[in-house]
Amino acid sequence: MTETNTSKRTLFGWYFGTNLLARILIGLILGAIVGIALGYSPDTAGKFVDNTKFFGDIFIRLLKMIVVPVIFFSLVTGAASIAPDKLGRVGIKTILFYMATTLFAVAIGLFIATWFQPGAGLHIVGQSGIAGKAAESPSMIQILLNIVPTNPVESLAKGDVLPIIFFAIVFGIALSMLKESTNEVIAKQATTVFNFCSGCAEIIYKIVGGIMQYAPIGVFFLIAIVFAQQGPKLIGPLLFVTFVVYLALILHLFICYGGLLMLNRLSFIKFLKGANEAMITAFVTRSSSATLPVSLRVSEENLGAPRSISAFTLPVGATINMNGTAIYIAICAMFIGFASDQPLTYAQQFTVMITATLAAIGTAGVPGAGALMLIMALESVGLNLETGSAVAACYAMILGIDALLDMGRTCMNVTGDIVGTVLVSKSEKALDTKAWKS
Ligand code: ASP
Repeated sequence: MTETNTSKRTLFGWYFGTNLLARILIGLILGAIVGIALGYSPDTAGKFVDNTKFFGDIFIRLLKMIVVPVIFFSLVTGAASIAPDKLGRVGIKTILFYMATTLFAVAIGLFIATWFQPGAGLHIVGQSGIAGKAAESPSMIQILLNIVPTNPVESLAKGDVLPIIFFAIVFGIALSMLKESTNEVIAKQATTVFNFCSGCAEIIYKIVGGIMQYAPIGVFFLIAIVFAQQGPKLIGPLLFVTFVVYLALILHLFICYGGLLMLNRLSFIKFLKGANEAMITAFVTRSSSATLPVSLRVSEENLGAPRSISAFTLPVGATINMNGTAIYIAICAMFIGFASDQPLTYAQQFTVMITATLAAIGTAGVPGAGALMLIMALESVGLNLETGSAVAACYAMILGIDALLDMGRTCMNVTGDIVGTVLVSKSEKALDTKAWKS
């Protein structure tokens, strides 16, 4: 074996053997360094952009390729996995609680982002000056009306996000009802469709996994190009957006969860003491699903929630309740709007509120899933992820720091599930308050 062969194999081996997050971060840092260095020689920078644009663009195209199937299949399976017979009092309470807190989370995210305006003044331009599709702002009534598709197939083909979400949820609910049908033939057919959809969702996630293997390279080129054109002034705003996201997460924790617990005369400090193991696990694993066993244990052993309730509220929460993700989507959509000089209008923020809440339902409880849903929120307000556009450049910047943001948002996602479990248990008079007294 020649020496080059060995070094090729080791480089290849190193690439696939190294943790993906570490690689993406390396891609981001190297991209920034190369871009800043290139910025000193505009001629070389121009040539670099022309010759390497392809490598970043292909990454954006790959991501766009999977957005519609991800939304459709994950929402259908998400909605269909709530069995209608479980939708008794506990089910309704749980789902209302999850939806309401998610809406509140998006509102906090939008408020904080409006206050701090992360990304404002960055004036990111695309490689060919494309900002992304110009944002139109239809009226609120029109936005609500447009949620209902007149032709779902057309919406799927055109990638109209809100109508796809609506159709997928309606489809999922009908499917979940038919799965339980007393007519055996229908129940069987529905189960087959459900298995097909959840199989497709798995396939899509497998593809996402494959695409993400390319992410470090894609991020490297996208970031290098952005920095070559904009210079080092971008580092501060990226740190700033991270700060803004964490600030909103912490506010949500105190105002929403702390407030609700206090209203129910439960100590917030005791809650944090009891739930911290699950919160830390979520922070490090960046996966609500992977944290589920720990959430179940702490809810029961430390917080006195009965298994009969937590066995429903926690798995459903890990699938559909993503307050942290909703905050992240709201703030990053605002950041991208500010940074690409098309700040979101109130009507667009209203759309983000709806999309982010629904996106939270469709976000799988696995690392990085929220970043895909961010694309969906962006597209719903006309900030299209076109190759070479300013929106794509800003998205790449966010993707570069996604791991950092994912830790905080997953922690908040799981915390929300546990708060929901405690409060639903309390309202059912099933909470063992001994655990809260000691
Ligand atoms: N990682 C998050 C979770 O598991 C989902 C996301 O990426 O937002 O809860």
